Amino acid sequence: METTAAVTSPRPERSLATEAVHAGREDLAALGVHAVPLDLSTTYPSYDSRGEAARLDAFAATGEQLQGPPVYGRLDNPTTARFETALARLEGAESAVAFASGMAALSACLLARASEGLRHVVAVRPLYGCSDHLLTGGLLGTEVTWTDPAGIADALRPDTGLVMVETPANPTLAEVDLRAVAYSCGSVPLLVDNTFATPVLQRPVESGARIVLHSATKYLGGHGDVLGGVVACDEDFARKLRHMRFATGGVLHPLAGYLLLRGLSTLPVRVRAASATAAELAARLAGDPRVSAVHYPRIGGAMVAFEVAGDPHAVIGAVRLITPAVSLGSVDTLIQHPASISHRIVGENDRHSGGVGDRLLRMSVGLEDVEDLWADLDAALAASAPARRAHADAAAVSS
Ligand code: PLP
Repeated sequence: METTAAVTSPRPERSLATEAVHAGREDLAALGVHAVPLDLSTTYPSYDSRGEAARLDAFAATGEQLQGPPVYGRLDNPTTARFETALARLEGAESAVAFASGMAALSACLLARASEGLRHVVAVRPLYGCSDHLLTGGLLGTEVTWTDPAGIADALRPDTGLVMVETPANPTLAEVDLRAVAYSCGSVPLLVDNTFATPVLQRPVESGARIVLHSATKYLGGHGDVLGGVVACDEDFARKLRHMRFATGGVLHPLAGYLLLRGLSTLPVRVRAASATAAELAARLAGDPRVSAVHYPRIGGAMVAFEVAGDPHAVIGAVRLITPAVSLGSVDTLIQHPASISHRIVGENDRHSGGVGDRLLRMSVGLEDVEDLWADLDAALAASAPARRAHADAAAVSS
């Protein structure tokens, strides 16, 4: 039976590319296997109930990851623990705790702080639409103060449990200066959603963030076939999160843990390749008269947001190679209209105040050839401005 290895390794000593392939798998040769074992057990036989009682007492007292054989799938799983070890190393964090989805991960963070009486959250818009909704709706008993980065210090209260930012943010790709924000937070933990940047482009712990959240569904998995979430943080907060996960049940399925670990091996290569294509597409869009604004982060990345002069819905309806779908971070290119889908749940005024305009499109660039993608975008943009196109065609005929 595979046992769960201890998770603690503050900073990678090897390069990110090497860690991506080897972290969480160091024992495989000794085990005599090459691929990671996938443990689908929900429960584990034990003839020693007194020993189990002592181990469960220790978990209840500390939240420390169980050592030795697992007990029950909601407590821990060796395959998932390998993914957690690897992600913690990539983020340069002490520990990581995986969840069933990005939203389950965020919920656990909010509940862990609220359970200590720290229900107030300071947050900067825009955030992913459902994160915004979770905070604004107070669904978990939290209360939010929205502010801009410069207003964070003034928005803090004695019961503030978290400051939350996304950078680059979904969907506008707005960036914040993480060091400055971390400084403004004082002793309040800064939670950074690092889904868009991934540890390949940005490691928020190095800038002072205490909690780094991912929708693992996106770049970490990388192939659009696994839902997951993960929080990289110090071991003290990880213990609280493990408690919360055990109590509320938002565990990652072990097959998802297996797929996410496999996804991590190619993360640096995928992110760099897709980013190069995205930068080229952003440059071409910026020079296109059918596009009124292009948003592309200074740190780079595989996401491009742009506003069209014509009808954004027509672009969505006209793409053929690019997939018109919400989500991001897959090997294929996806495009969506945030005001209709990813940020629909955010009230119109709040959307607009966060910079999410009605003509904004968000594109997650994949690994296709840049010329093929541009040909598809070019045709779709032509469809977005039929009046202008007809006018141009008529002018061409008459001249
Ligand atoms: N954070 C960001 C930036 C996201 O884009 C998403 C989903 O799109 C989430 C969190 C939520 O993740 P999940 O869909 O895995 O619950």
